[in-house]
Amino acid sequence: MIYYPSLRTIAIVGISDKKERPSYQVAQYLQSQGYRIIPVNPRVTEVLGEKSYPDLLSIPEEIKIDVVDVFRRSEEVLPIAQQAIQRSASVLWLQEGVINEEAEALAASAGLTVIMDRCLKKEYTAWLHSDPKEIYDVIIIGAGPAGLTAALYAARSGLKTAIFEGQTPGGQASTTEMLENYPGFEEPVSGPELMMRFLSQATGFGATLITEEVQRCELEGHLKVIETAFDNRFFARAVIIAAGAQSKKLGVKGEATFHGRGVSYCATCDGAFFRDRHVVVVGGGDSAVEEALYLTKFASQVTIVHRRDQLRATKVLQDRAKKNPKIKFLWNSVVEEITGDTAVEKVVAKNVTTGEASDLSCEGIFVYVGHAPSLDFLGGAVALSPDGYIATDSQLATNIAGVFACGDVRNTPLRQVATAVGDGAIAAMAVEKYLSYHE
Ligand SMILES: Cc1cc2nc3c(=O)[nH]c(=O)nc-3n(C[C@H](O)[C@H](O)[C@H](O)COP(=O)(O)OP(=O)(O)OC[C@H]3O[C@@H](n4cnc5c(N)ncnc54)[C@H](O)[C@@H]3O)c2cc1C
Repeated sequence: MIYYPSLRTIAIVGISDKKERPSYQVAQYLQSQGYRIIPVNPRVTEVLGEKSYPDLLSIPEEIKIDVVDVFRRSEEVLPIAQQAIQRSASVLWLQEGVINEEAEALAASAGLTVIMDRCLKKEYTAWLHSDPKEIYDVIIIGAGPAGLTAALYAARSGLKTAIFEGQTPGGQASTTEMLENYPGFEEPVSGPELMMRFLSQATGFGATLITEEVQRCELEGHLKVIETAFDNRFFARAVIIAAGAQSKKLGVKGEATFHGRGVSYCATCDGAFFRDRHVVVVGGGDSAVEEALYLTKFASQVTIVHRRDQLRATKVLQDRAKKNPKIKFLWNSVVEEITGDTAVEKVVAKNVTTGEASDLSCEGIFVYVGHAPSLDFLGGAVALSPDGYIATDSQLATNIAGVFACGDVRNTPLRQVATAVGDGAIAAMAVEKYLSYHE
């Protein structure tokens, strides 16, 4: 069951004006529920009182399309997915029997949530007829690799499971173009595509995805209360915190001013904007070096600025970076300021051993100086480890009974998809055990 309370405008591609057709009935139902329907079919002029457009690109730009719901043959979906991306839709929904894995991969890699071979009306009514105040066995906060794996294991164990996600499901793994180290894939696998498969598997076992950001929690009691950005309250007997981590900021002058105008934390998202430009990457760990290598696909030169005289990244990545003619290194240096007029033009770097400042002309700066866990919604309720991550025991239990944590948000020695997945499975099984003792 999948529920999108914040999405309101649905373009129905392939809608019919004949009342007996499923596309008409689904659209009519959604409209009766308060959704705005935009018909897309070149052969009709109007359906359900709404003007019909020949394709998604013909819909006026001022209409923000949230969901593209497709009633076309599977082989016709790819160009529709391309248009959905151009229209910055949030969800590409392929109705029952409509299956196109190429379109799924393309849309997922552009950040869309893709639901395939499911009926939007059936999913919506399933949610509607369940009591929204029902008590979940477990609520999982965060739909990254850890949360989605926990959801899969919990739902498959028969637990009534809801996953809350404030952004696009998939977490950090969906922001990376390719993963080379996720077991089972001899060839690199696309991060967004892999994560859509996680989502599909978890919801396939009955977990409910609720796309709302959790803003507050009351975790101490037997019944846990979760409050979201839409002032909704949800209840559960156990909670798994899988809220992951976020990129740390440099905290230097110009960083916030030029965020989105040259300052980025995601090469996969923004790298293509820097074709034939000089970009700076700050950091020396795996993420910094991986992303610097990725940026060489576009940039004319990539300078890695690192505070030490050697990288922290794994040796295979270091070797690749050092062999790449486009990558230069500025050792023992930190960024002190980012300057420019309307966009980044220059980075001021300081040598930490000599104290000397130098200017690096560049058009982009990509920051990879670490992660901090996403904890704001907890309001200090859960105990942390000395490095600021959630402290857990071997069962991934926190200091609060019935509250567990998994993945990047906790004190783990390795923050990767493979470890997040293992954590998710352990946390879900620990919840199952906990609930069986607390019937
Ligand atoms: C650029 C980059 C490249 C990477 N490359 C690799 C790689 O090649 N191989 C590899 O194994 N790992 C890689 N990683 C690391 C890997 O992606 C992470 O270790 C993994 O995603 C952690 O999973 P997680 O589920 O714990 O957290 P996350 O992936 O961070 O997911 C947490 C989710 O929780 C959501 N959330 C947070 N707060 C709330 C809230 N209050 N309410 C609702 N939802 C909330 C977030 O939106 C997010 O979707 C990479 C990471 C990055 C950033």
